[in-house]
Amino acid sequence: MKRILPLLLALGLAMPALAHDHKHSHQHTHVHGQAELKVAVDGGRLDLRLESPLEAVLGFEHAPRNDQERAAVAALRKTLAAGEQLFAPTTAAGCKLAETRVNSDVLDGKPGAGQDGHGDVVAEYRFTCAQPDKLTGLEARLFGSFPKLRRLDAQVVSGKGQSARRLTPKMRLLSW
Ligand SMILES: [Zn+2]
Repeated sequence: MKRILPLLLALGLAMPALAHDHKHSHQHTHVHGQAELKVAVDGGRLDLRLESPLEAVLGFEHAPRNDQERAAVAALRKTLAAGEQLFAPTTAAGCKLAETRVNSDVLDGKPGAGQDGHGDVVAEYRFTCAQPDKLTGLEARLFGSFPKLRRLDAQVVSGKGQSARRLTPKMRLLSW
């Protein structure tokens, strides 16, 4: 037992990292028109993770097959890259977009992706805010860019605890 214990401890420590990786590549069934937003607030750092069906932001869920679809994908990448146009943190907090990452297994041509006829896109943003005390929420402006998006289920983790809120085109303000 004495020799197994360190191994178990090592496995225990390694498992959260594995579970995290698995979650990122996991294909869950999505609902068209509905996306998820995870918000993590840590002092002056604001991390956002948007996961959306391609249907809601692109209109189709397969790798582009013609020039028109290729142009649509290029436009989507451009729109998603401009995170400060999609999410507006409290103005007084002086947040600036510091990092952006956009991934889509289907659009990136990952083997096996989209076999069920569905595909997602994940966009991650990191803002750094000069006045963290003033940071109390954000406006989800992305509804203006994506008319097919009807609902955004937001989960927030901040120093004040956890909260969940459903945003819609008419209810775009998320506060914490
Ligand atoms: Zn779909």
